[in-house]
Amino acid sequence: MIKNIGLVAHDSRKKELIDWVKFNAGSLQKCNLFATGTTGRLAEAALKDVLGNEAPSVTCLLSGPLGGDAEISAMIAEKKIDMLVFFCDNLIMQGHQNDVLGLVRLASLYNIPFATNRSTADFIISSPLYKSEEYERMIPSCIDTYKNRKL
Ligand code: PGA
Repeated sequence: MIKNIGLVAHDSRKKELIDWVKFNAGSLQKCNLFATGTTGRLAEAALKDVLGNEAPSVTCLLSGPLGGDAEISAMIAEKKIDMLVFFCDNLIMQGHQNDVLGLVRLASLYNIPFATNRSTADFIISSPLYKSEEYERMIPSCIDTYKNRKL
């Protein structure tokens, strides 16, 4: 079940993410939201606009360039994030590009639902599996294979 959601947007795509958050406020209401610092503050304000006192709080981690992407990466590896919406700037390299690549890699490795654009985020959040209590995300077998490798 999707309970813990990570939200990250680079500056040029923050508006896009916040529009998505507002549009889907009702579906996000019961989730635990974790975000890089600036994205998180904007998302929390947007949710308050839509839901008032019923708005969920957003746990704001460090700002992305200051380690926030790496914090979300670590949470994915620790299985503390079930889904990631990460709208990254596709036109310019970031000072923290290594962290951006690390986040993309771990979201892929741990097989979490992972949207890098609005239409994918819309498809995920409107899927029956989004609310399913039965659906269990498969942890790829390569992780155990790696852990048990012979040295
Ligand atoms: P921010 O970080 O939400 O603090 O702006 C996002 C990022 O650049 O990864």
